[in-house]
Amino acid sequence: MRRVPLIMVVTSDLAGQVRGKGFPATERAERLEKGVGYTFTNHMIDCWGRIPATPWGPLGDLVLTPDPATGVEVDFGDGGAAERFMLGDLLHMDGAPWDCCLRHYLRDAVETLERETGLALVAAFEHEFHDGGMRDRPGDSYSLDKVRLAGAFPEAFLHALHAAGAEPETFLPEFGANQFEVTVKPAAGVAAADRAVVVREMARATAERLGRRVSFSPQVTADGPGNGVHIHMSFRDRQGRPAAHDPAGRHGVSAAMGSFVAGVLRRLPEIVAVTAPSAASYRRLKPRSWSSAFNNLGFRDREAAIRVCPVSDAPGADVAAAFNVEFRAGDAAASPYLQLGILVRAGLEGLREGLPPPEATSSDPDAMTDEERAAMGVVRLPESLGAALDALEAADGVRGLMPGALFDAYVMHKRGELAALDGLDDAAVRRRYAEVY
Ligand code: GLU
Ligand code: MG
Repeated sequence: MRRVPLIMVVTSDLAGQVRGKGFPATERAERLEKGVGYTFTNHMIDCWGRIPATPWGPLGDLVLTPDPATGVEVDFGDGGAAERFMLGDLLHMDGAPWDCCLRHYLRDAVETLERETGLALVAAFEHEFHDGGMRDRPGDSYSLDKVRLAGAFPEAFLHALHAAGAEPETFLPEFGANQFEVTVKPAAGVAAADRAVVVREMARATAERLGRRVSFSPQVTADGPGNGVHIHMSFRDRQGRPAAHDPAGRHGVSAAMGSFVAGVLRRLPEIVAVTAPSAASYRRLKPRSWSSAFNNLGFRDREAAIRVCPVSDAPGADVAAAFNVEFRAGDAAASPYLQLGILVRAGLEGLREGLPPPEATSSDPDAMTDEERAAMGVVRLPESLGAALDALEAADGVRGLMPGALFDAYVMHKRGELAALDGLDDAAVRRRYAEVY
């Protein structure tokens, strides 16, 4: 069958969904200049394709302009249609960025960080997901057999990631039944979030070609482990030198990274509504599930909201270059642009105020007394999306972390999503999210 290649230009929206419009490849040059039309209210389409509420109604036009540096073209070699898309920015008709464009929001956050502090953010998104199409063998956590049972998926996925320029680093059979994890190499600010979009889309694209479905939903099963998105972060200074590590700093963290981490953790009970933004997210964020349930720093501790990651202590190892902290209270229901953007904004507050680096907890915060937690500034994160949104709306100063229009649209969007779950039991809620993430 003869075909004309179709190129999609897409945006990652408030629902963390990737939507856009396409054009024939013959129109590429023209569309790089003109983009494709888009509307304000498209941002309010929830993860189930409904528009419960919108501040804009049918009014207003935008241009979704492709960034050619993000072009993905992946041929799976199976005779089927290739994956062809570019990530885009949402601009007003006069070319000015739209306040609610999430890619712009992140770009503005990393540029402000760099301008004010000289620090360039380097990040890598680590993803966990469930493969819904394979036979499950009890006890196959981390097992070679689980990779075997996944058939062609792992290698076809790695091919897609390579071909899309996402630089895969590891692929592993995670702890949960049918659960896997993939990591990619770090990249500078916006490029790191672009890469997160590509990872999710390539996993879906690969699964589709094998006649199955994967889900990144934060909690797919009732009792099994959740699917986290862990965001590794470090800095480079103006000379390009690593700037997150100081051998003399507490837990090896530099003064700058210490203030950044303190800023994020101080705001986390309020902004977790953005980094872990679905009702299913709060089934994952509970004590003793290796996710995170408190706003604590941990040293090599996989239950902390931010973990100081292990780096090689071997003689001659370049500790500073490898050193990074890992934010663990995130998942793939969020747009990676919004997720990383708000972390940078909260971290920048900490840098502006010169906050001291937090002390890492050395035991399970859930087992500590209220007094012990209070002494360390550690609090339990909200236990539902509703409570998280309440915390976001009530917080002093949190509006300063986002343009006003974006803040209002986000809260309206999420309240509408929550209302759609009224009366559903736990299993139904998990199923609804598993279908769309
Ligand atoms: N599945 C865990 C989570 O929900 C993470 C497990 C791990 O440390 O890799 O974040
Ligand atoms: Mg993992």
